[in-house]
Amino acid sequence: MSEIKEFAFRQTPPAVPIRFDETKCIGCNRCMEICMIDVMTPGETGQHPVVSFPDECWYCGCCVMECPTGAISLHHPLMNQTRWVPKASLLKKKEVE
Ligand code: SF4
Ligand code: SF4
Repeated sequence: MSEIKEFAFRQTPPAVPIRFDETKCIGCNRCMEICMIDVMTPGETGQHPVVSFPDECWYCGCCVMECPTGAISLHHPLMNQTRWVPKASLLKKKEVE
C-alpha cells in the first residue's frame, strides 16, 4: 500500500492594493469618499481609512489622485506588473543571437 503523504497548503496573503504613508496622511477621508466601490471604511478620527475589501479594488487610481498630500500609493499584483515588450524588439534580439 502506498504511503499517504500530507501536503500543507500554502496560504496566499490577500493582495494589498493601497498603502498609506502615515507621516503624510491628514485623515480627511477624501480617498475613501472617491472610491466608487467602497474598498475602504473610515478609520479612527484623524487616521487614514481602513482597507476593508482589498480584493474589490479595480486599481483605478482615483484614491491616489484625490489624496491632497500624496499619502497613498497603489501596489499592483504581480501578474499586473509584467513588462510589456514590443514584438519587433524581440525579433531584433533573436536576429543578433
Ligand atoms: S484604486 Fe480605485 S478601486 Fe481601488 S481603492 Fe482606490 S479608488 Fe477604490
Ligand atoms: S485622502 Fe490622503 S490624506 Fe486624506 S485620508 Fe486619504 S490618505 Fe489620508
